Amino acid sequence: MAKISRRDVLAGGAAMLGSLGASGGTFGQQPTENFDLVIRGGEVIDPSQNLRGIRDIGIKFGQVAAVEPSIPAERAKQSIDAKGKLVTPGLVDLHTHVYPYGSAIGIPPDELVPFSATTTYVSAGDAGANTFAGFKRDVVGHSRSRLFAFVHISTIGLAGFPVGELLNIDYANVDAAARTIAENPDLVLGAKVRETLAFVGNNGIEPLKRAILAVERSGTKGRVMCHIGNAPGDLSVLVDTLRPGDILTHPYSALGNNTVQNGKVLPALLEAKKRGVIIDVGHGAGSFDYDIAEEAIQQGLVFDTISSDVHVAAANTPSRPYLPWVLSKFLALGFSLDQVIAAATIKPANVINRVPKLGTLQVGAPADVAILELVDGPVELLDTSNKPRSGKAYLKAVQTVRGGVPFGRPYSLPFSAN
Ligand SMILES: [Zn+2]
Repeated sequence: MAKISRRDVLAGGAAMLGSLGASGGTFGQQPTENFDLVIRGGEVIDPSQNLRGIRDIGIKFGQVAAVEPSIPAERAKQSIDAKGKLVTPGLVDLHTHVYPYGSAIGIPPDELVPFSATTTYVSAGDAGANTFAGFKRDVVGHSRSRLFAFVHISTIGLAGFPVGELLNIDYANVDAAARTIAENPDLVLGAKVRETLAFVGNNGIEPLKRAILAVERSGTKGRVMCHIGNAPGDLSVLVDTLRPGDILTHPYSALGNNTVQNGKVLPALLEAKKRGVIIDVGHGAGSFDYDIAEEAIQQGLVFDTISSDVHVAAANTPSRPYLPWVLSKFLALGFSLDQVIAAATIKPANVINRVPKLGTLQVGAPADVAILELVDGPVELLDTSNKPRSGKAYLKAVQTVRGGVPFGRPYSLPFSAN
């Protein structure tokens, strides 16, 4: 039992008096409940509940406990002032590289947070069957960020970087991948494969076929995330192989064998989208081209999820694929704030489909929160070919809260990040 101080009693009493006349209580039947943390006065954008407005967010026990126009100051053990800022669900990045030491291009996820405002990172094939246990112990076990993963169909994952992980088809071991997927249902969303000539050599789409076989053999209904970018052979044949619920990442790449050929989107891609293949941006170091994106989007190849594909090499480029900066590029392309926030919160959370209310700020959701600033422009935003577009504003990470515990101040006491 917690010791109740005189101050708590007074504060609780005041809150109760305050709540007697107020309508719309918070957190069920306990109007005197105090909050571990209140994020005050920000403009909340939560596309999952079509919410946009000034709200206080009350957090207790690592969950969103109240979303109210105003929460009395005395009910908050700690507060963050978010006036003039946007408050959104913690960003969810469906395609990242966050396995340092095990993949050569990974970045420690917690280290990205000040720039990314991202609370959930999906490791996109950093680890294969032979290196996955290291990811689980050394990254998942040591990070405050929420993590999921696609297991690479290559047993070595991206450990061989920069040598292609599927030049030797024997690395694409279906049984090993199936076993790793099956053994880690809470963490693993399916299999990853990179279909680029430089990585698969003469093996065509055999690695993709094996990735599909691996998720089927795992018995988990997992998804396959397939990277394209100068893909081998006929791109339409590759795309036709994807099943509903599988993910195509890098649809706006200009690296060769593109989704837009002679000014037209390949019909196979529009068909894939129609049957439920998820279109994921995957910006990365070389996979986001404004001209391709604009043509593709105009013709109906609209993204479902916006992801950064952040990794060491990408993070050092002038196109700076940190998620809020990537979202800003889509603002510049004419998408609304609500659309881009949805594509980096509720939409990828639904693809992950592991945690109730992830990607939302609904009462009962995990208290994963991003505080962002919409900085007025004009601003120049580069694609991965260093072509500029000018935007009217850009999104900047201000502060991030994961499971009710802020990264940085105010430090929670006791400090017990979940
Ligand atoms: Zn990637």
